[in-house]
Amino acid sequence: MFVDRAFITIKAGDGGNGITSFIHYKGKVSGGPDGGDGGKGGDVIFVADKHLTSLVDYYYKTKYVAENGDTGGTNNSFGRSGKSIVLRVPLGTVIKDRESGSIIADMFTDGQEIVVLQGGDGGKGNARFATSRRHAPHFSQTGEKTEAKQVVLELKTIADVGLVGFPNVGKSTILSKITKARPKIANYHFTTLSPNLGVANYYDNQFVVADIPGLIEGASDGAGLGIEFLRHIERTRMLVHVIDLSGVEGRDPYDDYLKINAELKSYSKELAKLKQIVVVNKLDIYGAEENFKAFKEKIGRKHKIIKVSAITGHGLDELMKAIYETLIKLPPVKPLEFEEFKYSKPDRLDYEIYKEGETFIIEGTLVEVLKRNVVLDDMNSLAYMHKVLRDRGIIKKLREMGATDKSTVIIGGEEFEFMD
Ligand code: GDP
Ligand code: MG
Repeated sequence: MFVDRAFITIKAGDGGNGITSFIHYKGKVSGGPDGGDGGKGGDVIFVADKHLTSLVDYYYKTKYVAENGDTGGTNNSFGRSGKSIVLRVPLGTVIKDRESGSIIADMFTDGQEIVVLQGGDGGKGNARFATSRRHAPHFSQTGEKTEAKQVVLELKTIADVGLVGFPNVGKSTILSKITKARPKIANYHFTTLSPNLGVANYYDNQFVVADIPGLIEGASDGAGLGIEFLRHIERTRMLVHVIDLSGVEGRDPYDDYLKINAELKSYSKELAKLKQIVVVNKLDIYGAEENFKAFKEKIGRKHKIIKVSAITGHGLDELMKAIYETLIKLPPVKPLEFEEFKYSKPDRLDYEIYKEGETFIIEGTLVEVLKRNVVLDDMNSLAYMHKVLRDRGIIKKLREMGATDKSTVIIGGEEFEFMD
């Protein structure tokens, strides 16, 4: 099965918790704090891989979670970092945030690597909170929790040349003759159900040719294979428009030509504007030469026309030459231009205060940070929280909003009594 779009859920690892512990000497009173930090959570990384051709793996397995960081240990030992998860995707995969549709990356070059989600930071152990005045901190920090995200993977094949045309006109045969690609060739519609890529060599030059499933076959058979496959030739530099001149299928070659161009145009104006070479195929069949005259008269001088027989190989050298000469005048394939979307860790200073009856409620990412850092039954720890609230202007804000001694303030689900 060919899969060119997948929806997956990814999550970086949570940071491990720091711990609270004290050195124990044999037969002596306890010593100083020695609680170690938690390890960092693993990242979610994507890598472009030219050997992959489909997103099928991501169709079957849709959830990818990196490892969490380990909890810190005694004796100041750090928790082990969580393992990152590496997701390999075919060249030309575009990664998007599902919620906004924004593009995170275009995996354009082989080996290209991008960290899409960063693992959570490990929490600090109590040893890190020791100061000259605070010898025995009875608190440590919990690890940072990460959020799962949904992304869309979309394959936008990267090729120099796109083969277009009705089903059965000989696109796959041409690809198999000018490259080492071995697409399925058969005399029925639906021969090509997935884009095939091949590398063609013309003297010292190479170019990548893509053969995509036909445009019309899906639509007419209601199989759902519509113009969506055109996505795969959207970033080609030129098109080779293949026409069956034999008329064995009972269609008029010029009519075919117009219909395909109309399909291209309805999909994208850019695609319709791409330079085309018209290849009239199956010239070995009796009557094709006859049809050529009428076709040539109708199409005029708009495109270069090359006569071939894909089966006998006649005309294919000329086709290669024509492709090469067209390509050297065209700019190279470029990655998409887009404003990069990044998952950022929440702004740590963000908070919001609102009043419900006589109660003040504080919410926001600042509260999440406080929750990680504050141990409610520890005096030092509470003092730290008070300092943060004061430094951030929250105490002042509460007062402005009418908080007085004994007002109730809820922070992160815990009730506190307001005291200046
Ligand atoms: P596609 O659907 O456009 O990819 O067409 P295929 O390459 O699968 O070819 C469809 C059928 O046409 C197959 O049976 C081929 O053998 C046949 N065919 C392709 N090119 C030629 C040609 O130049 N001459 C003749 N006689 N048959 C051809
Ligand atoms: Mg085909």
